[in-house]
Amino acid sequence: MAERVVVITGAGSGIGRSTAVKFARKGDKIVVADFNEKGGQETVDMIKAANGEATFVKVDVSKFDQVEAMVEKSIELYGSLDVVFNNAGIGKIIPFLDYTVEDYERVIGVNQNGVFYGMLAAGRKMRDLGVKGVIINTASVFGYLSNQYTFAYQASKGAVRMMCQTGALELAPYGIRVVGVAPGTVDTPIVQGFKDAGLTDKLKSNQMRGDLIQPEAIANAVYLLSLEEADVINGSVVMLDDGYASFK
Ligand code: NAD
Repeated sequence: MAERVVVITGAGSGIGRSTAVKFARKGDKIVVADFNEKGGQETVDMIKAANGEATFVKVDVSKFDQVEAMVEKSIELYGSLDVVFNNAGIGKIIPFLDYTVEDYERVIGVNQNGVFYGMLAAGRKMRDLGVKGVIINTASVFGYLSNQYTFAYQASKGAVRMMCQTGALELAPYGIRVVGVAPGTVDTPIVQGFKDAGLTDKLKSNQMRGDLIQPEAIANAVYLLSLEEADVINGSVVMLDDGYASFK
């Protein structure tokens, strides 16, 4: 397969980092996009140490102008835009009645608006370049299931679900595919708050195999979804949850 240009947001940690490493190992050129410079540069170093190709681009995905600049920079660096993984996200554990409007807007700004901005900027550029690209968005089982103290997160991930479905419909005429992934509980820094609250065993019990999912497992599945062989998968959100949603 010809090498592709792959942009991954939130690639300075967790799922994004593992996915960046996976695609790079397969020969793709990676734009490691994150607002955390240290984490992003570490991911680039990991890829380069394994003779892969990657560049860090700083972005705050909650700002449309920065997301557009990220897309422009990717083309300037590598000449195309084949896969965009809108994956950056944040969590916030707050009882509903304690929310401030700012708490809510921050989570929506990154998790929901960030995905919209990524789809819009990448979709326009892929159309202009005539690229039959793939846009993959990170939702969550929490876009399907209710949960206490994560109201804004649930709302944002539910929105991502619908953006995948309706975005696929809008972009299909250009040959651009849109797919979502809904991970279960993955062992990354984002779940540290639950661990700190003594909920590790509960987190593990969410999966059928009774353990946290490793980020590499999510990366493997995202890679498969990006392939041309998977082109019948369009507009769907694929559960990457070791059964979490099917037995809750
Ligand atoms: P993580 O905290 O390890 O990684 C998130 C990354 O996103 C970090 O590098 C962070 O710097 C970056 N980021 C945050 N806000 C940003 C912004 N405004 N602009 C650019 N980068 C930003 O967490 P993770 O588990 O790897 O999360 C990745 C995605 O997976 C998120 O969308 C998360 O909601 C989703 N998810 C995670 C789990 C899980 O259990 N870990 C489950 C379902 C979905």
